[in-house]
Amino acid sequence: MHGLMMHDQLLVSDILEHAAAVFPRQEVVSRSTEGPMTRLSIAALRDRSAQLAAALARLGVRRHDRVGTIAWNNQRHLEAYYAISGMGTVCHVMNPRYSPEQLVYIMNHAEDRVLLIDATFVPLIAALKPHLKSVEHVVVMAPSDAQPETPFEALNYDDLIAAEPADFAWPSDLDERDAAGLCYTSGTTGNPKGVLYSHRSTVLHGMMAALPSVCGVDESTVILPVVPMFHVMAWGIPYAALIAGAKLVMPGPRLDGASLFELMDAEKVDMAAGVPTIWLGLLGEMHKRGRTPEGFARTLVGGSAPAPSLIKAYEDMGIAFQQGWGMTEMSPVGSISKIPPQMAGESDARKLELKAKQGRQVFGVKLEILDDDDRLLPHDGEARGRLCAKGPWIASAYFGTDKSPLTSNGWLDTGDVATIDADGFVTIVDRAKDLVKSGGEWISSIDVENEAMACAGVAMAAVIGVPHPKWDERPIIIIQPAAEDPADKDRVMAHLAGKLPKWMLPDDVIVTEALPLGATGKVQKNVLRDAHRDHLSGAA
Ligand code: AMP
Repeated sequence: MHGLMMHDQLLVSDILEHAAAVFPRQEVVSRSTEGPMTRLSIAALRDRSAQLAAALARLGVRRHDRVGTIAWNNQRHLEAYYAISGMGTVCHVMNPRYSPEQLVYIMNHAEDRVLLIDATFVPLIAALKPHLKSVEHVVVMAPSDAQPETPFEALNYDDLIAAEPADFAWPSDLDERDAAGLCYTSGTTGNPKGVLYSHRSTVLHGMMAALPSVCGVDESTVILPVVPMFHVMAWGIPYAALIAGAKLVMPGPRLDGASLFELMDAEKVDMAAGVPTIWLGLLGEMHKRGRTPEGFARTLVGGSAPAPSLIKAYEDMGIAFQQGWGMTEMSPVGSISKIPPQMAGESDARKLELKAKQGRQVFGVKLEILDDDDRLLPHDGEARGRLCAKGPWIASAYFGTDKSPLTSNGWLDTGDVATIDADGFVTIVDRAKDLVKSGGEWISSIDVENEAMACAGVAMAAVIGVPHPKWDERPIIIIQPAAEDPADKDRVMAHLAGKLPKWMLPDDVIVTEALPLGATGKVQKNVLRDAHRDHLSGAA
């Protein structure tokens, strides 16, 4: 017997219409690509999104077509998110830091018909344009009077929408399972793979992200997604903010510590979200100024493991440091680290240990660790296995490919190795491919990096396994010293020697000016492995 509730579809346009009806005066503030700040009410955001949808329809964009965006976090990008998904087409966000070859592959694979780009990316598109097979129109998201010169035919965003009325009717006959967003994820080998979000997955994930235990947003929240809108839909914050009526503050292209500090201070941001490298930059600025931005209370950090030293530095300055774990294929949020009230009385050291874990699964996501035969392993904090996920916002397949990414029993293998303890806390031991296997023992690169990051004068650290004639593989560590009081090899070795068992100690410390960062701000360990492959080949 079915329940007797209405079966309304969950659509992205409902989020925008809800926000416009309930929070019309709430603001979206953003640093524009041209420089000045822009301020827009949600009522105006809704109207401009509707105008863009009408303009795209006039350009010939039809249901299920893909419309690509290459843009910073700003007002027009937000309008585009809602317009493109709302009209029943697919918002394909692209990371401009992908290689030119990857971007061409992605756009041709997605068959993008229209591209919306920030002025910053005109030279990039000029170089790629001859190789793009499906793109019929390029729209530069600039004010009418700031349209840049382009060596290709381009439309101006504001001119385009100015010609349209704001009464575009969002199609209500969409199926909630229809595609709404697309984001390609790049492994270290092979072509990037398209993760295709549905309306349903986007709305459900947005509702979850707004929960007190996740982003904790309501009308009084001022939230800054530093995490780019071109990476996993900015962790769903553009949706969670409008669901809950929070004020959104967008940083535009300037993500250095000083620019973020100024913006957060001026807008009284109380919640900000991004990858650890961003928070490292802001920390330097806070130390320089001897204070935190006014109102700044909470941060959500994910994308890679934040070192306990970074967590402690924020907590010492009175900012609640919350870690989240997830991946593109998971929309992305899967778990959040929060200290439950029953553990509030634990020692500071124990609380820091808990905060450095990747946390407990959020409602909607089931997490398990599986062995090599896809059997479930116990949640005892000891057993290590392949971390696998299930849930309504977890990918079941990649766009345009037949090969299933799922295990024999229907789980998505995240590629991470983890433990889960009896309280449900997940600890990522490592990316499976980053674990170092030395003489049959596994060494977690994250464990060694976390210790190295606590050494004075180390800004960043990366541990990789390199071939070794006796032990098969041994870890070496590459460090990027801090600007002030930079650490050297001897200091790092002496520091680690006091913290780690001998067999886990790196065989060498290499000092570099800057670690190679990939498109999403993570250290590119494959680049380091290639560069240092022979480093220990002469070792005895
Ligand atoms: P991406 O799909 O590019 O967002 O990358 C997802 C991967 O980033 C995960 O499978 C993890 O390996 C890593 N990751 C994300 N968040 C965390 C975290 N909090 N701690 C450790 N690794 C993380």
